[in-house]
Amino acid sequence: MKKVFADYHTHTVYSHGKGTPEQNVLAAMDAGLSKIAISEHASSHLLYGVRGERLFALRKEIDALNKKYGNKIEVLMGLECNLTAFGKCDAPKDTSMFDVLLLGYHRCIFPRDGYALRSLGEAFNLTKGDSLYSANAILAAAEKYKINILSHPSEYVKQDIAVLAKGAAQLNVALELNCRHLSMNDEEILCAAKHGARFVIGSDAHKPCEIGKYKNSLTATERLGVEERVDNII
Ligand SMILES: [Zn+2]
Ligand SMILES: [Zn+2]
Repeated sequence: MKKVFADYHTHTVYSHGKGTPEQNVLAAMDAGLSKIAISEHASSHLLYGVRGERLFALRKEIDALNKKYGNKIEVLMGLECNLTAFGKCDAPKDTSMFDVLLLGYHRCIFPRDGYALRSLGEAFNLTKGDSLYSANAILAAAEKYKINILSHPSEYVKQDIAVLAKGAAQLNVALELNCRHLSMNDEEILCAAKHGARFVIGSDAHKPCEIGKYKNSLTATERLGVEERVDNII
C-alpha cells in the first residue's frame, strides 16, 4: 500500500481540536509525514471559526515550529473556508498569510443568500437540494478565492460529482478524500476520476492521534485503481 506524505487538513485547540499545533506536528513526524498543515475553520463558522488576532498568533506559532522542526517537517498554515452563498466563501481578502486554502460546506453558517438557506434545509434533511447548482456554487467560490482543495466534497449538501470533478480539474483544485467522513462513495470517486479529478487524502484530524490514520482512503484508492490521481501519496 502507498503512503501519505502530506496532510493538509488538521485542526487544533485554536478551533475545536484537542491538540496544540506542536502536538499535531509531533504526531505528523511520528507518522512519517514530511508536510503538515494546520487548517482551522474560517471566520464564518458560528461555533469554531478562528479570526483576527488568533489567526496571527497561529501564524507566529507555525513559523516558530518551522524553525524548531524545519529539518524534519514543513508546517503549513491552512484555512478551511465555508461556503456562505452561491460563489462566495469567508476567505479573507488578503490570504497571503496562508499556505493552503480549503473550502467546504458546513452547517453552522449563517446563510447569506437564498441558495445558502436552501442548502441549510438540505443539510438538515428538510428539503431536497439541486446537486448541479450546488456543484456550480462551490466551483464559483473556488475560482474566485483561489482555493486549493475542496474538503469533504458532497458532504451535507449533494454536489453533482461529474460537474464538480470536471470544474475542479480545470481550476487545478483537488478533491479531498476525507478520512473522518469519506464523503464520496466508490461510484462517486470513480466518476470524479473519470472526469479528470485530482485527489488529496486528508485526515481532518481533531486529535493528534488521528494524524497518520489514512487507511480507509488509502484502501479505497487502491481498490478503485485511482492511486495515480492522488497528489499526496508515494
Ligand atoms: Zn470540514
Ligand atoms: Zn475540518
